[in-house]
Amino acid sequence: MGVSYRENGTLKPLAGKIRAEFSARYGRARSERQSRMILEQVVAPYFATNCWIFAPSRNSECFIVDPGISNPNMVSAISTVLKQHSLKPIATVITHGHLDHTFSVVPLDDAYGISTYIHTTDRRLLADPFKALQPGGMTAQILAELNMSDSTFREPREVVPLIDNQEIEIAGFTLSIRHAPGHTAGSAVFVVDSGHLIAGDVLFANGIGRTDMPTGSDSAMRKSLKERILPLDDELIVLPGHGPQTTIARERKNNPYLRPEYLDALN
Ligand SMILES: [Zn+2]
Ligand SMILES: [Zn+2]
Repeated sequence: MGVSYRENGTLKPLAGKIRAEFSARYGRARSERQSRMILEQVVAPYFATNCWIFAPSRNSECFIVDPGISNPNMVSAISTVLKQHSLKPIATVITHGHLDHTFSVVPLDDAYGISTYIHTTDRRLLADPFKALQPGGMTAQILAELNMSDSTFREPREVVPLIDNQEIEIAGFTLSIRHAPGHTAGSAVFVVDSGHLIAGDVLFANGIGRTDMPTGSDSAMRKSLKERILPLDDELIVLPGHGPQTTIARERKNNPYLRPEYLDALN
């Protein structure tokens, strides 16, 4: 794919057969606890959305981030990874209500009976994703291809709505929620145990999420980047909704959208 990411100071190529398959990413050994931690990435075949799986170790509980679009859904790809490490899923964490991040939430709930965490503002998109999609856009075309229609979507059985600055414990991890609107009105990023940032479509390696979709806002995005992203620690490993991992330090240095030319531009 020609994509690479930095891990422990070495530039490594991503496994060539990624796409619908899996690539293991183990936590860096900054502590014994972190060295046992399991962090897996499952890339959805549509839109290459990153689905992350966090577990404190093998044979433990885990949570799943942003299960996206596959035909028929992401459950079998995810369950393969769960079985590989003997993990028991207890929650799905959603960064925002775009369908390429939420498509497999209900199938996962049907398979495992697990709670879904999402910022309260994007909650309505679980049952009505079209409110944040461009009519006739790529997602609509893909849904037509999968024979899905408007009426197919509903909320999973248990939704836990989140608010700004809330801290939650899931599977032994502490997740600290930061509301970061701009890509969608209810976009949020999550700091996990002061080690990782689940960034959704707010921050990518060398980019940011688009702001021209319904409920998006360029000025809100600037404010989120300034107030919610820039103050974060350099050492945080960033897990974006699409594309390779990065760190806050790298993005602070390289990302054109974290520079004053963008952040301080007038709307
Ligand atoms: Zn998105
Ligand atoms: Zn996305």
